[in-house]
Amino acid sequence: MTIASITAEIDAATTSAVSLVAEAADLVALEEVRREVLGKRSVVAKIKVSIKSLPAQDRPEAGRLLSLYSESIEEALTARQAQLGGIEVSGVSVPDLSLGSHGLERGHLHLVTQVRRQLEDIFVGLGYKIAEGPEVEDDWHNFEALNIPPAHPARSMQDTLYVDLGAEEQFMLRTHTSPVQIRTMENQEPPIYVVAPGRTYRNETLDARHSPIFHQMECLAIDKNLTMADLFGTIETFARQLFDDDTVQTRFRSDFFPYTEPSAELAVSCVFCSGVGCRVCSHTGWIELGGCGMVDPAVLSAVGIDPEKWQGFAFGFGLERIAMIRYGIDEIRTFYDNDLRFLAQY
Ligand SMILES: [Zn+2]
Repeated sequence: MTIASITAEIDAATTSAVSLVAEAADLVALEEVRREVLGKRSVVAKIKVSIKSLPAQDRPEAGRLLSLYSESIEEALTARQAQLGGIEVSGVSVPDLSLGSHGLERGHLHLVTQVRRQLEDIFVGLGYKIAEGPEVEDDWHNFEALNIPPAHPARSMQDTLYVDLGAEEQFMLRTHTSPVQIRTMENQEPPIYVVAPGRTYRNETLDARHSPIFHQMECLAIDKNLTMADLFGTIETFARQLFDDDTVQTRFRSDFFPYTEPSAELAVSCVFCSGVGCRVCSHTGWIELGGCGMVDPAVLSAVGIDPEKWQGFAFGFGLERIAMIRYGIDEIRTFYDNDLRFLAQY
């Protein structure tokens, strides 16, 4: 043995150890490589023994070369261990978090839910409370208390799905959120300021504009000396907040609903073309949002509120419609197809 031959042997051992470390496919294989290149039977262990036969002046240099070997191989082992996903912390193998996730993505709220929450925020800011009610309703709350007696033509426009509960009274999936207004007035003393968002049902065939299930939001205010001016002012404030545009104009045209008198169709100036006319507003400059009116005295009487003392206004609109206008969506069906390519955009 000479210092030259030892240097050559250590060089060769380093090259072979580095490639063995790099080839280790998992942590178990790596542990085996560690024994092979640093253990008692490794090439360097034998070299260490043969150092004794070197001339005394060459021994320190051989020792230095051996510890350089150990250091560089330890380094290579640690680096490879991190690559394979395990870092040894006091004997326990833990995952290396710096390697990143495994492609899991966080979801988000459905567009209709987002719109609903934004609207709720606007109305809560105006001092309204959120009211909710059952989706399976009885005839009284869905129709009769709302001034829609049996055989009233408005019933045929709101055909729905009926539920057989074995009782004589008829139960149905609610055709609008208005029964929540009835339930609120039955259970609370005026003054009342509520909005009722929720799912509603009609016997409709699914097409681009209609769906057997959709969402509505209704606003109800009952107080002393309320007039149509209060209704118009509330709608204007709400519409300007909804579209984040202080120049939005409102338009009311005479309409008929059994539960409001007088009633009006509610439209806002097109926020896309400022009333000039575009595709979204069908070149009319106006976008129809829903209906509104002063609560019919017959409805107040039905729930035991004195119409001589209290007045009320109400308005309602479809949540899908608001989302369609806001995001320029043509098809109501896209809300229910559960196609992630559509949903992920919002
Ligand atoms: Zn327009």
